[in-house]
Amino acid sequence: MKGPRYSAAELLARLVHFDTTSHRSNLPLVRFVEDYLAQHGIASELVASADGAKASLYATIGPTAVPGVALSGHTDVVPVDGQSWSSDPFVLTERDGRLYGRGSADMKGFLACVLAAVPDFRRRQLSVPIHLAFSYDEEVGCIGVRPLIAELGRHLTRPRVVIVGEPTSMSVVDAHKGPVRWHVDIKGRAAHSSMAPLGVNAISVAGKLLGELARIEQELMTAPRDSRFDPPYATLQVTRIDGGTATNIVPVSCRLDFDIRALPSVDAAAIDRRVRAFADKECLPAMRQVASESGIDITIANQVPPFAAGNGSEAVALALHLTGHNETHAVSYATEAGLFQEAGSPAVVVGPGDIAQAHAADEWIAKDQLDRCMAFLTRLGDWAERGKPIR
Ligand SMILES: [Zn+2]
Repeated sequence: MKGPRYSAAELLARLVHFDTTSHRSNLPLVRFVEDYLAQHGIASELVASADGAKASLYATIGPTAVPGVALSGHTDVVPVDGQSWSSDPFVLTERDGRLYGRGSADMKGFLACVLAAVPDFRRRQLSVPIHLAFSYDEEVGCIGVRPLIAELGRHLTRPRVVIVGEPTSMSVVDAHKGPVRWHVDIKGRAAHSSMAPLGVNAISVAGKLLGELARIEQELMTAPRDSRFDPPYATLQVTRIDGGTATNIVPVSCRLDFDIRALPSVDAAAIDRRVRAFADKECLPAMRQVASESGIDITIANQVPPFAAGNGSEAVALALHLTGHNETHAVSYATEAGLFQEAGSPAVVVGPGDIAQAHAADEWIAKDQLDRCMAFLTRLGDWAERGKPIR
C-alpha cells in the first residue's frame, strides 16, 4: 500500500494547525493521524477520555504479536493566552532555519518526525514492531496516558521499550524528577475581628502549616543530593494561597497549594503522611475546641512519578545506540516516562527541540533538530528490521 509521503516539516505544519491546547478536544488531530496511518495500511486503536472529548492513539507497524519499541508523545499543548507572539502560534512559520509555532518543540516536532518515518517503517520487514503511542492532557499532569497504559498488556500490546520524544535536543535522558501537587483547604469559623476568640482564623492555621512546609523544604535541601539534577535536591514550593473575606472579619477559610519536585529517591507518601499528622496534632485540636465544624482537608491533586531508568536499561542502551551518544542526562521536568516505567515498560526520553523553548512565546524548533530525529528514526528502522540484541 502506498500512502502519502510528507516531510517532517510539512507534517509539523499540519499538526501545529490543530489547536490542541489541553482544555480543548484533540480529536481532530487524532482523526488526521488515524486517517494518515490508514492510508499506509496501519490500523489505529483509540482510547477515549471518560467524556469522549479526547483520545489517545495506539498503532503498531510490523508483527502484532510481539512487543516492540513504542514511540510516545503527547498531542496537547500549553495555552498561548497572555503571551505575545510574533506570528500566529497555530500557523507554522519559518524564520532563519527555525520553525515557529505552539507545540513545535513540545512536542509536535517529535510526532511529525514519527509520522514522516511511517512510510520507511512500513516498507521494511520489521522483526521488532514499532508502536505509536500518542496521548492527551500531558500538560495538565500526565492525565491522558494513564488509561492507555492501563490497556497495555490487555487490549494493547505492552511495549518492550518506550521512547518518549520530549525535547532533549536528541540527547538521552534516563532520569527526571516527579511533581506532586497538593491542595489544602482550611475551614475555620468567621467572627467579628473584635471578638476574635469566638472565631477560628483559617489564615493563622495556614501560617502554622507554612512553617511546617518550610521545615520540610529545608530538610529536602539538606538531604543527600543527586548532582545529576539541577537543582540537585527536591524542591518544595507553596504555589498559591487564597483566604479571608474582609479586614474586619476573622477569616473562615484559606486554601493553599504546594508542589514538590521529587527526586527518584524522595518518598512523597511519607511527606503526605507528615503534613497530615502535623495538621491533626498541631492544628486541629485547638480549632475544634472553638468550632467543631473546623477542618483541614489535604488532597494530592496530581502526582507524576519520578523517572529513573536504572542500570542496565534496555531502553537507554537502545537510545544510546541510535543516537551514537555515550552519556545520559537527568532533567528536572516531568514526562510520561515514569508512568511507562512503573507499568513495566523500560523507558527513555529522547526527542528533537530544546526544552528552553517549550511553553514560551514564539516557541520554535530548529530544522536541523527534525533532521537529526529523522536520522534517529531511520536507525531505529534499521535496528528493528535486523532485530539484533541491543547489547
Ligand atoms: Zn511535553
